Amino acid sequence: MNDKVFQKARRLLDRCPLPLSPAELERFKTDDFGLGQLEVEGFAFIDLLRTDLVRTTVIVLLPHQTLPEHKHPPYDGSPGKEETVRCLWGTFKVYVEGEAESKDLLIPPGKDAYYTARKEHSLSPGDQFTVPIDIRHWFQAGPEGAIAFIAQNRVNEDHNIFYDPESTGCKIPNVNT
Ligand code: ZN
Repeated sequence: MNDKVFQKARRLLDRCPLPLSPAELERFKTDDFGLGQLEVEGFAFIDLLRTDLVRTTVIVLLPHQTLPEHKHPPYDGSPGKEETVRCLWGTFKVYVEGEAESKDLLIPPGKDAYYTARKEHSLSPGDQFTVPIDIRHWFQAGPEGAIAFIAQNRVNEDHNIFYDPESTGCKIPNVNT
């Protein structure tokens, strides 16, 4: 755990307008997807709900921090994951497959090949966007950072595909805890 980055994320979480219980705050943690540069590529999160059918999560991104490109494909009779992002605070940008509409994309340096989804949906508080199943996507905060609520159907996260060959994904236990 990178304590400095965690503390920054924890301070941002204090701005979350969604009430969180002490037990939930205890579960707040960061993940760098195995890429070793948490403040650039990574996120902090709390799973609020994890049942056999549903998962809801609060995500915190530091200023311009990027959650790397990935997708949630169908597998073994499961349809794959549909993921709805609702911005709670700051500016939460969702990038999906498609062409860039502006030239100022902030792709992590040297990682252009692993960020091919270039169509931006920039969400302000109260905006939400549903990422369709089996579509490449990645997230990035605006200059102040961002907090979002994520609603998603439950899948085995081991089937997620991350495109940076260095990435180990974000390990989520497949059993409910
Ligand atoms: Zn996703």
